[in-house]
Amino acid sequence: MVGLLFGTAGIPHSARSKTTIDGIERIAELGLGCMEIEFVQGVKMSEAGAIQVSETATKGGVKLTAHAPYFINLNAHEPEKIRASQGRILQTARIASLCGAESIVFHTAFYLGDPPEKAYNTVKKYLGEVLDQLKRENNRVWVRPEIMGKPSQFGTLEEILNLSTELERVAPCIDFAHWHARTGGVNSYPEFVSILLQIKERLGRAALDNMHIHVSGIAYGKKGEIKHLNLKESDFQYIEFLKALKDYDVKGLVICESPNLEEDALLLQETYNDLVKAG
Ligand SMILES: [Zn+2]
Repeated sequence: MVGLLFGTAGIPHSARSKTTIDGIERIAELGLGCMEIEFVQGVKMSEAGAIQVSETATKGGVKLTAHAPYFINLNAHEPEKIRASQGRILQTARIASLCGAESIVFHTAFYLGDPPEKAYNTVKKYLGEVLDQLKRENNRVWVRPEIMGKPSQFGTLEEILNLSTELERVAPCIDFAHWHARTGGVNSYPEFVSILLQIKERLGRAALDNMHIHVSGIAYGKKGEIKHLNLKESDFQYIEFLKALKDYDVKGLVICESPNLEEDALLLQETYNDLVKAG
């Protein structure tokens, strides 16, 4: 990974059309570095389409990643729902790999009233089966469970780091907005640094050189995340966040999930570059 790249969760609003290819071309025109392909409503891209996407991204110098469908719960109580969830992760990984994406991101599970340790073991077992299958297919994408914003959702910092430690080819998707919403805190320089240090301690420096970060403003209440907001309309301390990334020389992708997408992605990129210049 060359450095820290900034991009959007999905096709920028200012793209010529709502196709992935036009999205990638717009990212390149804007001078951004990456894009997350949103398969959140299902993986509908063909294999031929994925190969075209890969060519466009290579030409534009845009790094890609992909977000799996929302309808995944590796702690579902019905075996058919588990199988369908595993299938959606596999399908995302297969198409993402053809797109030239280095990683996929997904929402792991809901607790459904289970004790977190029980949910953890269930998730680990079924995710392990997915990873075994990807290995058989020689698919090398990083599989990244995401930190989630609601206490009903599996995906605390600890759980995601544990999965990343215990399973091969699993790495974290650190969603700073979700973690801020879920904890009601974690919104200052020392707190951002403490997350980075935990990642380094658990997974090694290599993890900080290959990060996948989600960020946006966020509205939240007692039950965690309510909705995403644009950075300047939120309480998220994005300058302190960027300072922490700079000071710890974090590399990888920063995916902006604000409603205004590319506007905030550019704000983050410009602010980060200014901080780097200032030294
Ligand atoms: Zn997500």
